[in-house]
Amino acid sequence: MTTDRMLQFVRTEKAMPEKRGADARKEDFDEIYKAFSKEKATEQASRCSQCGVPFCQTNCPLHNNIPDWLMLTVEGRMEEAWEVSSATNSFPEICGRISPQDRLCEGNCVIEKGFDSVTIGAVEKHITETAFDNGWVKPPLPREERAETIGIIGAGPAGLAAADQLRRRGYQIEIYDRYDRVGGLLIYGIPGFKLEKHVVERREQLLRDAGVTFTLNTSIGEDITFAELKEKHDAVLIATGVYKARELGGNDDPMTGAMTGIVPALDYLTASNRIGLGDSLPEAEMASHSATGRDVVVIGGGDTAMDCVRTAIRQDAKSVTCVYRRDRANMPGSVREVMNAEEEGVVFEWLTQPDGFEGDDAVTAVRCSKIHLGQADATGRRVPQPIEGSGYSMKADLVIKALGFDPENLPEAFAEPRLKVSRWGTINIDWQSMMTSIDGVFAAGDIVRGASLVVWAVRDGQDAADRIDTWLKAKAAGADKIAS
Ligand code: FAD
Ligand code: SF4
Repeated sequence: MTTDRMLQFVRTEKAMPEKRGADARKEDFDEIYKAFSKEKATEQASRCSQCGVPFCQTNCPLHNNIPDWLMLTVEGRMEEAWEVSSATNSFPEICGRISPQDRLCEGNCVIEKGFDSVTIGAVEKHITETAFDNGWVKPPLPREERAETIGIIGAGPAGLAAADQLRRRGYQIEIYDRYDRVGGLLIYGIPGFKLEKHVVERREQLLRDAGVTFTLNTSIGEDITFAELKEKHDAVLIATGVYKARELGGNDDPMTGAMTGIVPALDYLTASNRIGLGDSLPEAEMASHSATGRDVVVIGGGDTAMDCVRTAIRQDAKSVTCVYRRDRANMPGSVREVMNAEEEGVVFEWLTQPDGFEGDDAVTAVRCSKIHLGQADATGRRVPQPIEGSGYSMKADLVIKALGFDPENLPEAFAEPRLKVSRWGTINIDWQSMMTSIDGVFAAGDIVRGASLVVWAVRDGQDAADRIDTWLKAKAAGADKIAS
């Protein structure tokens, strides 16, 4: 009986896959966690108590059937484990690697209360890699072709998940992206030490093998108008993500000025990822976006800031400091990532606020003040208050601003005033139909939620595919009725 082999949390301790030592991992951009062996995955999966009400599953944005795939892993029924895990998630090997499980499934695992949680993400990765090794992962080919075409703007996880699901249903899919590569932030944002690029390229190939076409280096609104795209396709999905970097103290803040040596996080990470992918960058861009031999200060406390500090370490910076105005307990980034950064030699200046920069043409220091956390505001977060007289200078010749992202002005970029957006600029959709204010135009991912997570982008992409399918079938049925 399988359950005899489960519930092992009482005698078996939680283990993560082996992590490469900090000195070794600073030398390259390879993933830092090794894969679980079959035996280790079985051992760790067996810690699950097979809860009647599995909080891991209810707190997963995709409602992945985690207890079942853990049990199937323990039983050695790996192909079935793969089928269960891929039934709800288009890209489980990606979520297994980079979802913040400590805030989602693992953070809600019931045995977390007295014992450490089950190691869910690493088992998910093990199942999917086993499936790839055995050739079980196939291109999403349809049983029957359909004539309708769908134009997807954005080849990030939301657009790709929608393409995967729609192609399975027989639709003709064309994905447009202004980048030269497929993957969105999976390729140009998230560094290889969290997600190696071949993992994303492998998915791209499967989609291509299934007949999905990619029109790259093509910005909708510039190279092709939104109106042309809408005219060409039976339905359109907007999955363009959010890219406008926030500035210190607001987007018009003069504080950042024209000084050199101050760069936005995504420009910095994109340059590093391009080099890793074998691109040669113009010399000036290489110089302005390299941390080698420099005193680097990264401003921000989210996952993007963590990716910047750890990239700078790998570029052999002289020193790397992360400046964040709240404390460790109140930072938005994953606890695991902060720990990894500390192991690699990053210094964290908690409760510290940047007030300005020093230098003539090039930055030489960041002016900072220490912070006291005051009463909680309406959002429940304690308000950072500068401590008078606490100002000091922090040496820096490269400053990376990782303060978050806002959407671009899409109605303007697409010359489409009918596209309704929220006051933050995210696209308004009807959450039932996932349709925007324009008939036949749907939206998914960060451009709807604001900067979020890959797992939510996958969920939205899958849901949008479902709603587009329903809408197109209803439309076809209506047309048939009129014709008869
Ligand atoms: P994106 O991935 O941003 O893709 C949008 C695509 O649309 C891009 O390829 C873009 O080029 C294209 N596009 C935009 N405008 C146009 C246009 N006009 N015409 C044509 N193409 C266009 N999430 C996690 O879960 N775990 C992590 O560890 C993690 N780390 C992150 C690290 C960084 C540095 C960043 C910035 C984000 C991170 N995230 C992480 C968040 C995650 O990457 C995003 O939530 C997710 O990628 C959003 O997916 P998306 O498909 O909506 O948008
Ligand atoms: Fe297993 Fe934890 Fe999920 Fe319960 S909450 S089913 S113990 S993984």
